[in-house]
Parts: sequence; C-alpha cells; structure tokens
Amino acid sequence: MSLAHGRSYLAIPGPSVMPDRVLQAMHRAAPNIYEGALPDMVDAMIPDLARVARTAHNTAIYIGNGHAAWEAALANVVQPGDTVLVPATGRFGHGWAEMAHGLGLTVETLDFGLRAPWNLDQIEEALRADTRHRIKAVLAVHVDTSTSIRNDVPGLRAAMDAAGHPALLMADCIASLGCDRFEMDAWGVDVMVAGSQKGLMTPPGLGFVFFNDKAAEARAGLDRVSRYWDWTQRANPDWFYQYFCGTAPTHHLLGLRAALDMIHEEGIEAVWDRHEVLARAIWAACEHWGQAGPLELNVGDPGYRSCAVTSLRIGAPHGQRLREWCEHEAGVTLGIGLGMAPPDDPARHGFFRLGHMGHINAHMILGLLSTIEAGLVALDIPHAPGGAQAAAQVVAQARPRPVQAAAAS
Ligand SMILES: *Cc1c(COP(=O)(O)O)cnc(C)c1O
Repeated sequence: MSLAHGRSYLAIPGPSVMPDRVLQAMHRAAPNIYEGALPDMVDAMIPDLARVARTAHNTAIYIGNGHAAWEAALANVVQPGDTVLVPATGRFGHGWAEMAHGLGLTVETLDFGLRAPWNLDQIEEALRADTRHRIKAVLAVHVDTSTSIRNDVPGLRAAMDAAGHPALLMADCIASLGCDRFEMDAWGVDVMVAGSQKGLMTPPGLGFVFFNDKAAEARAGLDRVSRYWDWTQRANPDWFYQYFCGTAPTHHLLGLRAALDMIHEEGIEAVWDRHEVLARAIWAACEHWGQAGPLELNVGDPGYRSCAVTSLRIGAPHGQRLREWCEHEAGVTLGIGLGMAPPDDPARHGFFRLGHMGHINAHMILGLLSTIEAGLVALDIPHAPGGAQAAAQVVAQARPRPVQAAAAS
C-alpha cells in the first residue's frame, strides 16, 4: 500500500501548481500566428500583465526562463566595462551577479549572508563612496528564493535617493510577483524581471522585463544591443512577430491569459492577502514544531519573510529524509535546500523549502502542513506536536477582505 496515490502536489518554489484553467487553455490546436485571435489576445494582454507588476510603463516578453530575463534586462541598460552593485541575501543575488559578470560587467557585491535582509545603511554608504557614478545599476532580488528573505525595495529606493545616486534600480521579482506585494512605479523601480512559472502559475518558459522611461533612456544610450535581447521592438512592435523576435510561444501565451484572468478576477490585493494568511499559517506551524526539536525558520523576523516561499533548517539528514517521506508516502514534493551548504557537504541534507506561490488555498496548505507533521512523527524527528493545529487557527481567524469597488484600482 502507498498513501501517495491520488493527485500529487508540487510544493516547491517553482514551477508552481498550475490551475486546471491554465492547463485547459493550453490544450488546443495551434492557433494562427499571422492574424486573428492570438495577436489580438496578446495586444490586450500586455496591459493586464503590466497591472500585475503595478507599472504603467513598458513590457517586453522573452521565450526563456528567469535566467534569460536576468540577461535580457542587463543587456539593455549596461555594457561591458560598466559596474553594477549587487546586495545579496542568498543564492539568487549571486546568480544575477554571475550573469552580469558573464556580460563583461564589473560586479561589486555586498554579501549579507543567508539569514539577514539588506543592510540599507551599508548600501547607501557604498553608493556615496561611488562619487564618479561608475555604478550603473543596483541589482536587487526582492525575494531570494533560496533563503526566503524578502527585502525592503522601497527602503532601497530611499537609500539610493539619500545617496543622490543616479544608478538604475533593477528588481528581481521572479519569486515574488503575484505573491508578495510589489509596486513597481510607486516604489521607484526602473526595471523589473519576472518569470511565468511561479506566482503567474504558467509553465516555465516565459521571461518578462518591465522598464520605465529612465531605463529606456539607458537603452538608447548604448551603442549596440544584441538583436534578440533588445527590448525596443518587443515593447513597441510594428508587427506581431516582433513581440517575440520570431515565432510566438503560442501555448504559453494561452495559459498566461487564463492565469491573468484568474488574478484579476480575484484582485491583486486579495491575491497578496491570501498569500500572506497562508504564509502566516506555515510560520505558525513551523514555530510550533520548533519549540521542541531542530526545525527552525531560516528568517527570524517575520517582517522580512516572503509570503511565497519558506526556507527551513532541520539538521542533516532530516531535511532529506522528510522530503523523501512526504513525496513517496504522501504524494507531496517539498523543495530542496538551495545554497545553504556546499553541494558536496552532507550538511546540505539539513534544509528544505516550501513553495506557496500562486494557485494555493487553505486546504492545500493545511494538507501540506499535516503531511509534514505526519512525516516528523513517522521519522521520529523531535518536534512539539500540534503545528498543524496552530496553522488551522491562523486560517480560522483570517478575516475575509471586504469586496472592493471595481473602480478602486
Ligand atoms: C526562480 C528564480 C530565478 C531563476 O529563474 P529560472 O526560471 O530558474 O531561470 C531567479 N531569481 C529568483 C528570485 C527566482 O525565484
């Protein structure tokens, strides 16, 4: 007998759970790419995508994953020899820095470790020290998916303004878009990158770059941008094929349309609220279990925890054993620890992550947490019993948000 039979559940931080509506939208014959419904749909979809990013400015779409969006964004605003500043709070900050290095940029990294958010004073100091303004951009990962730290983007904007530094503020919202509150224009973000497979509930394969007029000016000042990465025509196409510099990713677009419909029907504020309540349920369970055992949230201060992903410490080999138990005995796949220990160090088996991004609701998260509790019992991993109940209380006490007038946003 196995209790894993039934609908499986991928609770990793991307790819995320795909709604049936998204899957069904993709389940159809290839559409005409020259005229008609598909081109019309894409024209109308761009503003809906920008609404999720909370920007009134430009959108470019790439056929690629998040790494492609990282490179695309950089390719349009900096050139070899330029300097970028990377405040890193986990693996993904370093990942974007590596892409920048590969493009011939000089990378200044401020490493804040694996458990603390950006130190804004230190960032401001680094910018003030750059009196000749060699730094062209600050590469800021909003939610670092490895550590689950959620950084203070408006605070970073304020630090850059206080330093009087003209660098572009570039945000990576690949994990956070559609999960954690993010306000591109209101927070003064110049460039934002995202991907399809996390909060946007669509298969991996689309990368998005949103940019404002200041970033467009930086693009205009470059001698040359490789034709494929150049965002100019993608954001302002004369012909449909220019959106994608070639054949459109037809079925990804159909899926994304359905996902955006779902987000806008629910309302982005309600989407953020749902993620927040469910994240608080997860934190409550983990804090409870950790009262008598090795389980510990990686981020201590709730103000810096992401509502999309939770990174946990439990000691080796418990992380690995728990993941195997949950997948093979209960049909739910947890995320591996990422960047918390060297890849050849057995200590890496002491971490795991929960993805709670996109198409998730109370019964999924309560089921996930009860499954983890069953695993802790089955594997004899010390913990305080009752974490799942603590989560249930958070869910029970959540107040539904009053329905807002349609004109409000
Ligand atoms: C997932 C992720 C990436 C990388 O995206 P890929 O699609 O795997 O290339 C980059 N940054 C963040 C914050 C992410 O969560």
